[in-house]
Amino acid sequence: MRADNRFGTCRMCGKQVLWIRTKNGKNMPCDPTIHPYVTTLGGKERIVTEEGDVVCAEIVHSQHGNITGHGYISHFATRQKAGKTKKAAAG
Ligand SMILES: [Zn+2]
Repeated sequence: MRADNRFGTCRMCGKQVLWIRTKNGKNMPCDPTIHPYVTTLGGKERIVTEEGDVVCAEIVHSQHGNITGHGYISHFATRQKAGKTKKAAAG
């Protein structure tokens, strides 16, 4: 039985987010899409694994090649990338 609903909605943009508890004990909102990643020196992405580890890695876009594992991208990171500020309806 799964009682934990880890999905939520971002208050800022209204998108669905997945809450992952990091090893620091913080809840981090991540994009619900899981990505294959490989940890590299100087990896530009901040990947949050299902275990709550935050690692610097690169997203693997091709089907072949070795991957380190699967993880999630911080929702804050994608918001920065989008570069758009969507004004939330004041309520
Ligand atoms: Zn958002």
